[in-house]
Amino acid sequence: MTGSGTNFGASEVESRPRNKCGGKLYIKTYGCQMNVYDSLRMGDVMKPLGYAPHDSFEDADLVILNTCHIREKAEEKVYSELGRIREEKQKKSARGEKMLIAVGGCVGQAEGEEIIRRAPYVDIVLGPQSYHQLPEMVTRAIRDGGGVVELDFPAVQKFDLLPESTSPQGVSAFLSVQEGCDKFCSFCVVPYTRGAEYSRPVNAIEKEAKNLVDQGAMEITLLGQNVNAYHGEGADGKIWSLADLITRLANIGGLRRIRYTTSHPRDMSDDLIAIHGSEPKLMPFLHLPVQSGSDAVLKKMNRKHDAAFYLDIIAKLRKACPDMAFSSDFIVGFPGESERDFEATMQLVKQMNYAQAYSFKYSPRPGTPAAVEEQIAEEIKDERLQRLQALLRDQQTAFNESCVGETMPVLLMRDGKHEGQLLGKSPYMQSVHVRNAESLRGQLVDVRITGAYLNSLAGEIAYTEHKIRKAV
Ligand code: SF4
Repeated sequence: MTGSGTNFGASEVESRPRNKCGGKLYIKTYGCQMNVYDSLRMGDVMKPLGYAPHDSFEDADLVILNTCHIREKAEEKVYSELGRIREEKQKKSARGEKMLIAVGGCVGQAEGEEIIRRAPYVDIVLGPQSYHQLPEMVTRAIRDGGGVVELDFPAVQKFDLLPESTSPQGVSAFLSVQEGCDKFCSFCVVPYTRGAEYSRPVNAIEKEAKNLVDQGAMEITLLGQNVNAYHGEGADGKIWSLADLITRLANIGGLRRIRYTTSHPRDMSDDLIAIHGSEPKLMPFLHLPVQSGSDAVLKKMNRKHDAAFYLDIIAKLRKACPDMAFSSDFIVGFPGESERDFEATMQLVKQMNYAQAYSFKYSPRPGTPAAVEEQIAEEIKDERLQRLQALLRDQQTAFNESCVGETMPVLLMRDGKHEGQLLGKSPYMQSVHVRNAESLRGQLVDVRITGAYLNSLAGEIAYTEHKIRKAV
């Protein structure tokens, strides 16, 4: 689990007297891009109450932990962070000042009132579908002294009631188009914490996308727990697919790149596959999790597809767009996974040749069906994970090395680690470090790739037209 403070722009706001709304807002975001997006929207929703961003919980008037339930021991990590924040709250209290603490996101949804029981100094607990109610909850917490819990699933209301996004996200922005999941993979808490699938209407998404572009975005990543299950209402009153939505957004002048994540193999419809071959703004990189290469394990995972189905989708995508590169998620040591099952995963990876991938040992999530199955020994999981990760590392390095000598469009986004260096993003989501390019910050420029590492590329500005890569 990773955590980061969310920065909304300005950082200093006068301290407010006790029991008044407004002041310094610190949001710590854990987990996925959807949580990063949610944190920005929580910042938007709190602005009218006078809350402005602050970059640490020290001295903040309102601290929100926007949590993630995916990683192991997620709850314990949240409770230990709460312990640290509590000390600061006590210091403020001794000075006669007030700090409100809120726990949002998937741990908030899963733990609910238990958080207030274990950590009574927490004032507010809210689920991911309730953050439009945050201003009212903060007001209640100030008035009544805390203990405010809201865990309902009114998804339609949430998006309807949120204000327009006013937090600039820079040249690369996230836009949530879909939430929730109806798939019920047996290892996953998302259907329980985020609720049923819901797709935002096309008009609302288009309006937000135009706003983001007006604020400087050149690349937009469409987000959803199961984003390719998107089925939102179009302006014509009909249901639009993700491919329809992408086609519409691609008409926005100034928007240069579109991505979407995270997808499920079952929802890779023919029109979505086809648009990878026809829409140049749609990047030739797809994160399409398979989780395992064994049909027996996929069945136990309730993934609703087998390995052949997945490989068939990949073949269709490669046919539509020969330059396409892929990443995936893998769970190693799922209950019942035999050595033979694991070998099937290794075979699938060899067949796929991934550009990137994320792999984890299975760890039970309370309340999910797989959590009560007989578990695989830790040392077996460790050994398999090491083998898989060695293979994935080799593939990622080989993919990066295959880019050396190519010229590709890179979106120069921010400072690199070293002085005089900018960090950009390739069409394939690789980090690209470029020197002496300060005047091109925030632009999409052609870069000739001069070096490759496991996690990044080095390049130099090429003042020639870029070539599209050959098949990978
Ligand atoms: S499709 Fe994804 S979000 Fe839905 S249950 Fe499966 S892993 Fe979880």
